[in-house]
Amino acid sequence: MMIVMQETASDEDIKAVIEKIEQAGAIAHPIKGARLTVIGAIGDVEQDVNIESLGLEGQPGVDRLVPILKPYKLASTQIRHGERTVLDIQGRKIGGDHFALIAGPCTVESREQTMETARCVRDAGVTLLRGGAYKPRTSPYAFQGLGGEGLRLLAEAKAETGLPVVTELMDVRDLADVLEVADVIQVGARNMQNYPLLTEIGRSGCPVLLKRGLSATLDELLMAAEYILKEGNPSVMLCERGVRTFETDHRRTTLDIMAIPILKELTHLPVIVDPSHAAGRRDLVLPLSLAAAAAGADGIIVEVHPNPDVAVCDGPQALLADTFAEFASAVQRTAETAGKALSAA
Ligand code: PEP
Ligand code: MN
Repeated sequence: MMIVMQETASDEDIKAVIEKIEQAGAIAHPIKGARLTVIGAIGDVEQDVNIESLGLEGQPGVDRLVPILKPYKLASTQIRHGERTVLDIQGRKIGGDHFALIAGPCTVESREQTMETARCVRDAGVTLLRGGAYKPRTSPYAFQGLGGEGLRLLAEAKAETGLPVVTELMDVRDLADVLEVADVIQVGARNMQNYPLLTEIGRSGCPVLLKRGLSATLDELLMAAEYILKEGNPSVMLCERGVRTFETDHRRTTLDIMAIPILKELTHLPVIVDPSHAAGRRDLVLPLSLAAAAAGADGIIVEVHPNPDVAVCDGPQALLADTFAEFASAVQRTAETAGKALSAA
């Protein structure tokens, strides 16, 4: 249930409603909009708490009670009354009119490769630096990432370039270490439905880039986001990264461009697109990035390498560091055409 407060409601009125909801055993999620406050009242278990029976209607400051129609309650567009979530990552905004260009290596391989890539993307004016220290690999015999040493190298790249860092967390036991360096935690496609992981990341309060599972529907993606939001963490970005279809001869997966406008209709959360993992081919990354920006995405995340031929992971899709600045300008121009400004410090 959604309790819509009057524009004139005082802080005391809001507090009194929250107390009543919590006393009844439900969770209150106050969401302050530009105009008015809405309080989402969510029972911990469905149908457990009957909010309608609490007599909130008629209480000071309360305008009306509105049922939330979607199963993803906190992620739904309805709860924000048309306002969009704008994340603030160390002063860099993502969402609304702000477009995020996120770039960096697939994997942190060495100090030299990490620093060279970080400087290259910083010089091109990106919003965030990406890089994996813990890698989800299909084969258990493939390189699994540098782990703690990778996190230290990311911290070094962040200190030198000033770029906020997004890095993947796969195992909840590594959460404290990842939080030391991550400004945004990435949940990879394979972990989209790892619910204990989502819950712990939700509790940490750290902003999240939640990638769509390889065969996940949009409703499943939104329900996964709900696990994080429910813990009181409002800073979630969704990421379309390609889904499995029958076509496997010429590309890794199929980038679901339609997901962008559909998600924007269903949710207030920012929508990021990962053309690198969708395509698995460098030559497709520019056209797909432009398509994503033109379709209204709130940002893209791409992989870059100084020498992709020797990359330990995902070399064929890595953009060349040498020409990355041109790529970045082309994406920026398209984002501007779609009404968004590139977000930087
Ligand atoms: C990645 O971003 O490095 C990655 C492995 O992506 P995904 O989880 O989308 O496959
Ligand atoms: Mn990769």
